[in-house]
Amino acid sequence: MSKKIYLYGNWKMNMTAAETKKFFDEFSGVYKPADDLEVGVFSPFTSLWALAEGAKKCNVVFGAQNVYFEEKGAFTGEVSIPMLKEIGVKYVILGHSERRHIFGESDEMIAKKVKAVLDAGMIPVLCYGEKLEERESGNTFTVMERQLKSAIKDLTADEISKIIYAYEPVWAIGTGKSATSEQAQEVCEWSRKLIANPNVVILYGGSVKGSNAKELLSMKDIDGALVGGASLKPASFLEIYTAYKN
Ligand code: PEP
Repeated sequence: MSKKIYLYGNWKMNMTAAETKKFFDEFSGVYKPADDLEVGVFSPFTSLWALAEGAKKCNVVFGAQNVYFEEKGAFTGEVSIPMLKEIGVKYVILGHSERRHIFGESDEMIAKKVKAVLDAGMIPVLCYGEKLEERESGNTFTVMERQLKSAIKDLTADEISKIIYAYEPVWAIGTGKSATSEQAQEVCEWSRKLIANPNVVILYGGSVKGSNAKELLSMKDIDGALVGGASLKPASFLEIYTAYKN
């Protein structure tokens, strides 16, 4: 059988609960499950109930885009792991570049979140990647080594194997300018070695769409895509998998 493809959609701050319901009404009409495909959708907190309902009906995985590591208390504006678990959330995106660079999340904070999510029996989707100036100054691998090592340094080999990794070069996110398949493959191959586990799941994210999906997803060390813009409509989202297969 061909390799399994992970097609995960990060809706960012888009999709109200009503829009989420509409998405799944449409998605259920066009989605054809396949043995080599795992679809996942990550919505804002306020849409998670609607997401859980739609995703369960369509048999796709679903999750949140962030969480706080403390269980409860005086953390105004934050959402805890037990709150997510109550809705049936199993997956959480952590360390997305927008969390790192717009909201100032540090490597230390991301590491605490990764640990807390794993301790709760949930799966972190850990994003990492370099900014354009870091790539241009030849610092791509130094930056990513810092981001990856800080997130996994206190984890057991078993915990490290449970994480889904997502290489997302910041300059490719939402810009329409994806990394080339060679650039993405180079980093994913390097990451697999750094993580020291040949079997971990590593996604590429950054302007993935139908027109570049085949090239990117055919690369040996890329197990799937984390998709922003193109995941907001069932047709453009699923086109990524069909383009890869055809
Ligand atoms: C993302 O938000 O993780 C992302 C990859 O966005 P886009 O596909 O729009 O570049």
